[in-house]
Parts: sequence; C-alpha cells; structure tokens
Amino acid sequence: MAKYTPMIEQYLNVKEQAKDAFLFFRLGDFYEMFFDDAILASKELEITLTGREGGGTEKIPMCGVPYHSAEGYIQRLIEKGYKVAICEQMEDASVTKGMVRREIVRVVTPGTIMDGKVVHDKSNNYMVCVTEAGGLMSLSACDLSTGELYVTSVPWSEEWLRDEIGLYEPSEIIGDAALLEIISSQSLPGSRNIVYTAWDRREDALVRTQFGEPAWARLEEERRACVSLLISYLSETQKRSLGQLTQIASYEPGQYMVLDPFTRRNLELVETVRERSKKGSLLWLLDRTETSMGARLLRRRIDKPLLSRSRIEERLEAVEHLYNQYILREDLRMALKEIYDLERLVGRIAFGSANGRDLNALKLSLRQIPSLKELCAQSPSETLRRVAADTDICDDLCELIEDAIVDEPPVSVRDGGIIKPGYHERLDEFREASTSGKRWIAELEAKERAATGIKSLKIGYNKVFGYFIEVTKSNLSSLPEGRYERKQTLANAERYVTPELKEKEGLILEAQEKMVDLEYALFTELRDKLNTQVSRLQKLAERIAEIDVYQSLAAVSAEYRFVKPELSDGYDYIVEGGRHPVVESVMKDSAFIANGTDLRKDGSSILLITGPNMAGKSTYMRQVALLSILAQLGCFVPAERAVIPLVDRIFTRIGAADDLIGGQSTFMVEMADIQVMTEKATPRSLIIIDELGRGTSTSEGMAIAQAVIEYVHDHIGCKALVSTHFHELAHLQESLGGLKNYSMAVQESGDKVHFLRKLIPGAADSSYGIYCARLAGLPGSIIDRAYGLLQGLEQASLAAVASEHGAALQREETASASLAAEGTDGAVMAREQREDAFPYTPRDLSHGER
Ligand code: ADP
Repeated sequence: MAKYTPMIEQYLNVKEQAKDAFLFFRLGDFYEMFFDDAILASKELEITLTGREGGGTEKIPMCGVPYHSAEGYIQRLIEKGYKVAICEQMEDASVTKGMVRREIVRVVTPGTIMDGKVVHDKSNNYMVCVTEAGGLMSLSACDLSTGELYVTSVPWSEEWLRDEIGLYEPSEIIGDAALLEIISSQSLPGSRNIVYTAWDRREDALVRTQFGEPAWARLEEERRACVSLLISYLSETQKRSLGQLTQIASYEPGQYMVLDPFTRRNLELVETVRERSKKGSLLWLLDRTETSMGARLLRRRIDKPLLSRSRIEERLEAVEHLYNQYILREDLRMALKEIYDLERLVGRIAFGSANGRDLNALKLSLRQIPSLKELCAQSPSETLRRVAADTDICDDLCELIEDAIVDEPPVSVRDGGIIKPGYHERLDEFREASTSGKRWIAELEAKERAATGIKSLKIGYNKVFGYFIEVTKSNLSSLPEGRYERKQTLANAERYVTPELKEKEGLILEAQEKMVDLEYALFTELRDKLNTQVSRLQKLAERIAEIDVYQSLAAVSAEYRFVKPELSDGYDYIVEGGRHPVVESVMKDSAFIANGTDLRKDGSSILLITGPNMAGKSTYMRQVALLSILAQLGCFVPAERAVIPLVDRIFTRIGAADDLIGGQSTFMVEMADIQVMTEKATPRSLIIIDELGRGTSTSEGMAIAQAVIEYVHDHIGCKALVSTHFHELAHLQESLGGLKNYSMAVQESGDKVHFLRKLIPGAADSSYGIYCARLAGLPGSIIDRAYGLLQGLEQASLAAVASEHGAALQREETASASLAAEGTDGAVMAREQREDAFPYTPRDLSHGER
C-alpha cells in the first residue's frame, strides 16, 4: 500500500465519514477535491483537473474551487443531485504547529440546501423520510428553509406512498431501505431527480428536546420513529441547531381529498402536461398572491382539498367578503406587497446565516403587520377577524431591529457598518476614536503642506503600508531631512511615514478592529435574540399566508365571475352554466361555452359522453373535476350556480400521447389505473375516464369498457363521467338505470362542421367519422365502401344489443323482485323512468344527405 503524506492521510480519514458526498476539503483559500471526487467534479463543474504529489507512487488527481466563490459550485452539484460535505480548518494555521485539525462542518444535500436555484420562492423544497413498522407506513416531510415539518401514517399501501410522495415532490428521500427500493422503482409522472439515502438511526432525545415532551407524547410510536429518523439525519448533516423546526404537524390522510399523481397531472393542477410549466395550470390561474409564503400555501391547498364542510365554509366565508369588497382587497394587497418571505428569513435566522439585510427585510415586513391586522379586524368576515385576533404583530422584534441595524447594511456581517450609532456606548466610543483620528490626519495634511511648502503633498492609505505621506519626485528637494522615513517608491512619487503618523495609525486601526469585532458581536447577539422568537414569527408568517391566499382566490373569483359553491353532504352534483376555469381564461377571440352538469344518485350518476374528436369532451370532464377541487379547497367556482357534494377522491383515466411510462403500454397503464379505481373508489368518489378501452382491439376494448362501466354502476355507485368513441355503448342506458347518454353537439352547414361545445342529452351520431372523412376529401368510393361496412357492423351489433337487452331486463326483474320483497317500488319507478328517457334509436343512419 502506498504511504501518503499526513495531509492526504487526514483527507482520507475525513472522506470516510462522507462516502456518498463530494468532500470539499479546505486548504487555505481553496476547497480541494482529490481522487475520484476530483475526477468527477472536474467534469461536472468544468474545472481543471490537476495532480498533486501525495506520497504515493503516482500523482493524486486534484481539483479545487476558491472558498469565496464555493457557494455557486456547491449549488451546481446539488442541482445535479449530489451531496457536498464541507470540511473546514478548525484551527488557525498561522499559530498551529504541524497539521491543522479539519472537520466536516455541514453536508449540503438537495433536501437541506437553504438557498440557491433549488430553492424556489414560490414552492417548497421538501425532504421526505419513510419508515415501516407493524404493517404501518409512516412518512415525514420537512422543508428546512421554511421550518415546516409534517408526519402521517397509514396501513401498508404502496400506492398511498406514491401518492403522498407525489404531493411533496421531494428532492431527497431517506429512511427504510426496502421502502426506498419500492419508491425508486415506481414511475412517478414527471418526478425530479431524487436523492435516496437509506437511514435507520433514531435520535429520540433530539426530537424530545427540539419539540418538547408534550409534542412527543402526542405522537403515535410509528410517527415518532419516522420523525426521529428524519431529525437524526438532519442533525447529522447540518451539524447545528435546527431552531426553525418548532412544531410537528401530524395529520391524518383522511382529512383530505385523495388525488394521485396521475390525476394531479391530468387535471394540470400545478403544471401543464406538455410543457410542465406552471403557466396554463390551475395554480397559475389562481395565483394572485403577493407573498412567497402565500404562494406556497396556495399550492398546498390545491394539493390537499379538504373533506370537512365546516372548514371549507370557513375559507369560503373569507373569500366571499373579499370578493365583494374590492377596496379592502386592494388595501390588503398593498400591505402584503411589502412583506418579504418571512418563513425563509426566519429559517436563515435560525440557521445562523441571516445578515443585516435579512434583518432589515424582516423589519420592513413587520412594519406592515399592524395595518394588515387592523384591516382584517375591521372586516365583516368572521374568518378574517379570527385571523386578525390570532395575529401577534411582533412589534417588539421590529423595534429591536429598528434600534440596532442601519438602513442600508452591507452584505457581509464581519466588516462592520451594520450597527446604528447610539445603539451601544462602547461602539460609539470606538467610532469616535476612529473618526477623530481620521480628522487629525486630515489636519496633518494641511500642517505638512504649510511646513514643507509642497502644495501637492497628500496623505493616503492602503492596506499594505497603512497611512503615508506622498510627495511627487519633482518636489523631493523641498522635503527636510531626517523626519521622514521612506516606505514605498512609485514611478513619480515617494511615500513616507513619520513617527507621529505611525502612532496615530496604530490607534485608528486598533479602534477600527475593535469596532468591527464589537459590531459582529452585537449583530450575532441580536440574531440570537431573534432566534428565540422563531415560533412567534413562524405563526405570524402562517397568518399572512392565509390572508394572502384569501385575497388571491377572491381576486380571481371576482375577475372571472365565479360563484360561491353550495357545499352538500349529499350525493348530487348539480352545476348550472359551468366552465373550465383555465381554458376559459386563455380564450381570446371566442367565448367559452358553458355547460351544466347533473349527476344524481337516482338516474344519472354516470354520464356516458360520445362525440367526435375536438368536440370538447375532455375539457368538459376535467371541468367537472376542477369544480370539485376548487370548491373543496375553498374557492369560488366558474358557474352560474353550483351544488357540490364533498368528494373523497378523484380518479382520472385520461389518455395522453405520452402515456408510455416505464415501457408499459397504454393499455396496461389504463388497466392498472382501472384496477386501483375498482379497489379504492367509494360512493363519494368521482371517476373520470376519457376514451375508455381505446388501447386494444375494438371488440375487446368495447367489451372491457362495458364491463368496467357496469362494475362502476353496480358495485361502486359513485359519480362517473366516461367518454368513449364506442357509440355502440350507448345502449347501456337501457340496462343501467344510473347511466345517461350525452354528447357534444356538432352543427354542419354546407361543407363546414361547427363544434358547438354544448353538452346535449342523447348519444352522438356514429356516422360522423365517415362524414368527416368525406369532408377531408377522401375518394367517394372509399366513403361509400365505409358506409356499407358500417351498416353491416351495426346490424350485427343491433342483434347483440337485443340479446343483451333481454338479459338486462331479466337481471332487473330479479332485482325488482328482491326490492319488492323489501317493500319498495323503487325498481318499478326506475324502470319507468328509464323507458321514458331512452331517446336513443339504436342506429339512426339517416344522417345528412345519405
Ligand atoms: P375532445 O376531448 O372531444 O377531443 P377537447 O375537450 O380536447 O375535445 O376540446 C378541443 C378544444 O375545444 C379545446 O382545446 C378547447 O380549446 C375547445 N373547447 C372545448 N370545450 C370548449 C367549450 N366549452 N367552449 C369553448 N371551447 C371549448
């Protein structure tokens, strides 16, 4: 084995503690990397790879970055999904004999980075920890930059795990190795680079001191284990206090509407499917927030619509008042505009990285709070008044900063210039000493000019030589001998010092050094004081975020003429004049066509929608889902009137061109989704299936589609919207009492087809496709042949319908017999209604000119 130099030996020892990270090893003014780290980092960061003698037989690969610009390089590595361990010199090299001690002071990871591009203003940066014990899965999620910490657990369910992780979109996941394996093999739609670390070290004592015994006592054992693992990882990597984590938000998943990642994506809740951009998503439409914490809260609310009617109504009440009060809304916005990202400022205070400018940003934000509170307190809205009553204006903290910090402090906290005059007596004395010293020097310049008669003589200062008297070469002869000691020669001048100048300089520099040290001490003292108030500031930030979300939702609702939804605990979903909020908002020339929705327990729980491509089917179905989400997150909805029942879960099966995820075929993906749906849907769920059964052959696809619809109808009984190009399925209205045929109206005039985008009762005309083909200019012979074939096919399917109809009637008779035995005539009623409402003539081929 090669014998390395002591420095490389030290490096290797430290590297042992950070095997999965780049080790930034501090050597003087550089962070150096060696061996494989150096080879990889030089590629990733595009920096020069060099070599260094290290005692071995060959040179050791090495590359480095200057310490003062390391931040940018670290961020680039983190963005690429790496971890970086920072190793500092723990002793002053100038006074240490031999090797200085070096230690890792922090491991920066994608889930724990506090600044930079990875941390977006308007979204959270979560790290997630997953554990499993006794058949229960637990998940905790933490955003170190804002101080949020959540935990929850459920009985073992891989798909729940996928859904919940999809909500947090973490950049890093730690915990149980087997679970990490499962998660990394699941194909989440559009997930980011995630860094996985198996971690099983618990630190219960840390959690208990961090959050207090009562919080610990409230947590179930499996959640304790999960939080404890997370905290131990954070403390191991951050190696400092995590003062910004002040409370554990433990929640039950059952409190929220379930939206799996595919549904969230299909409905374009926070980003669009194609461009993966926020623009064009529901979040984009609703986001009129003025603060970053408001924007993040809005997103959390979209991700987790509520199931509690009273809580939703509380939110709607605030939105309603702001909807009606334009002036109040504007006043709130004016105040909110001036408020910085309190959560992240507080995060930096707790982390010890806040500078003078951060404290001033906090001060300026806090100045807005009294008027904000007053505006809410005066409002007629009970919800806003409650928020106001709950708001601690933290004026004492504002004053603390106001008294101490100058209005425009520098970025650095170590070079002075931060603390206001009058804040600290000693500091003022040092300042006085320094300024009077400088005044003395200015006076000296005048004295020396008079004494020597050299008008151009001047006194200057530089870091190397300190204060000096400068005389140009042409005037040197006027300088008296003896008193002046030469220090530096320039091209056309000489620089001198005198004993008295040296003495004064010593005093000035000493005062300045003390001044800077004292300023730093005073600054950190203030920052530490604020650090003890972190939880007050975090609560305040929550209140501000809430107000911001209300004004944002109210502003959008008012602009687009949304109405307050009437929430119901019942089943029926009744909307008049409903619109798709996002499609409507981006329409420029034409108007969006409103469509009602009538989903009722008896008679119309399933809508089977037919119609040609581009007719507006998927827009309509998404609209129905979005209205539920809007209502349950506490927003008004785009409609003339809306009665919205609380929906516990939305399933969507919406075919998209990019369905091929992880090598699975469209059909397999569809079937897997349908399987989850059959297992998990309850009567309170909402199912949306676009183009059911399209991934396989016609007859098979149609057979599966029919079987699925029957299953939803007979066994689940939830509200469902199904679009299909199998017009033949329209006959199901006859056998399934809860299914109604609808179609998207199309108008033809001459050679033109006009999409009316109006939902009308009854199935669409199946000959439309061939009609379209003719419009497209296909030869007449092909068109004729197609019509001929169609007729043949349809006669065959008519026969099938007739036999299925017979079977269905039989099924129904059995059912009504059993209902009659229970003493109800419901089945007879249903049958009568069904016969009345069967406008569909199995095959109407007399379309158009044929
Ligand atoms: P389909 O699912 O039937 O193929 P889409 O729902 O994709 O049709 O709608 C096609 C296009 O029609 C959409 O891009 C949208 O711009 C427009 N559209 C849909 N519904 C409406 C409507 N109600 N009013 C106005 N335009 C609409």
